[in-house]
Amino acid sequence: MLRRLVKPTVSGLKNVSGGGQVLSAAATRKQHSQPSASVRPETSTAKTLMDIGTRRIFNEDHDIFRQSVRRFFQEEVVPHHKEWEKAGQVSREVWEKAGEQGLLGIMIPEEHGGVGGDVFYAAVVWEEQMYSNCSGPGFVLHSDVIMPYISKYGSKEQIERFIPNMTAGKCIAAIAMSEPGAGSDLQGVRTYAKKDGSDWILNGNKVFISNGWMADVVVVVTVTNRDAKTAAHGISLFLVEEGMKGFQKGRKLDKIGLKAQDTAELFFEDVRLPASALLGELNKGFYYLMNELPQERLLVADMAIASCEFMFEETRNYVMQRKAFGKTISHLQTVQHKLAELKTEICVGRAFVDHCIQLFAEKRLDPSTVSMAKYWTTDLQNKVATQCLQLHGGWGYMLEYPIAKAFVDSRVQPIYGGTNEIMKELIARGIVGQK
Ligand SMILES: Cc1cc2nc3c(=O)[nH]c(=O)nc-3n(C[C@H](O)[C@H](O)[C@H](O)COP(=O)(O)OP(=O)(O)OC[C@H]3O[C@@H](n4cnc5c(N)ncnc54)[C@H](O)[C@@H]3O)c2cc1C
Repeated sequence: MLRRLVKPTVSGLKNVSGGGQVLSAAATRKQHSQPSASVRPETSTAKTLMDIGTRRIFNEDHDIFRQSVRRFFQEEVVPHHKEWEKAGQVSREVWEKAGEQGLLGIMIPEEHGGVGGDVFYAAVVWEEQMYSNCSGPGFVLHSDVIMPYISKYGSKEQIERFIPNMTAGKCIAAIAMSEPGAGSDLQGVRTYAKKDGSDWILNGNKVFISNGWMADVVVVVTVTNRDAKTAAHGISLFLVEEGMKGFQKGRKLDKIGLKAQDTAELFFEDVRLPASALLGELNKGFYYLMNELPQERLLVADMAIASCEFMFEETRNYVMQRKAFGKTISHLQTVQHKLAELKTEICVGRAFVDHCIQLFAEKRLDPSTVSMAKYWTTDLQNKVATQCLQLHGGWGYMLEYPIAKAFVDSRVQPIYGGTNEIMKELIARGIVGQK
């Protein structure tokens, strides 16, 4: 679809009719073998922490792509976000615009109907969403958490049916693992599919499902063998589609942050699923989840650091304008030292996350290392949010100030994608061995 919308130009980029530039297949296929000719500054030496043209993991093609993604969020997302926060969801239109712009399914192979890019292009989208301070669109979950399940484990028919439409933003996806009684302990899921001839009959309910209200297709984590030797051996994944009889969406949940995200409850009552709805092999679902969760943790970590970078720059601008006792508060040594500490910690985090992104590109990122990144960066994000809000004084507590929104949006990061306590469990196993 992208190929029809765009025409090739220099530097592996393509122009869309609207004048924006999107990622081309040629640019994205070009693996990360061509670093920038000039030396790129790292975050610590850049003028601002969100500068384009920095960090050794990127090159000029990524920079041009970043410019277009930044423009997309500023023009297509920021102006609508307040209205979406009130509605508790974003528009379908913004999904399709993101699809036209080549922002969805970046890491999915072209032959499956994705964009065919590498993790560095995907990371640009993760970071730019945080720099826009707009948490509403669930693009990242859709593209880099859910699409890989269908692309890697789906049948030819499932890939052809879903992936091109997902890349175009015409089919929105969710993943339903958590249940009212089972979050961290995924082996405790109760949603159950019983065999009926060649079909399956699905019963159960899920909670906290991101993109859940708008989803056209949901990857549902389901028990298929109650007598398996362990619960993990009896779990399968199914693709459940909007409109199937017995599949109902509950309410959009009222959250303290992520106000424009449609987090929902899902109910399944005798939903008849054809055999073709099974994703991958029967009873292999838990194994697939364990394979894919590290990628989710990497993007949470990268978004956490990007959020820190955004909050830092917001705060730097604020303290350089806000006056108290006849001078801007940036003249106070306590404020200067606080900014110095924050910048140091953010740059330390950025270096580790960039290292993890590079390891991921080389297929060398292990579950323990990515757990370190997820837990440490999301804790840092909350520390930065608290301290940057403090530097805004009372205005920091007002939602009209971006720092207030960033503060409430930060709180969920140590909770989802595996809680930070579970991350420490995973890290500890590598230290003292598994009991
Ligand atoms: C906004 C939002 C969006 C979400 N999106 C999705 C989604 O799209 N799909 C989806 O499936 N889920 C989603 N979730 C659910 C999320 O993944 C779970 O909330 C999370 O895994 C924690 O599970 P729980 O809420 O059941 O907490 P629990 O598992 O009950 O944990 C409660 C507390 O106990 C701690 N704890 C539990 N077990 C251990 C242990 N072994 N060792 C140490 N401490 C432990 C936890 O760390 C936590 O502090 C979302 C949640 C939120 C809030």
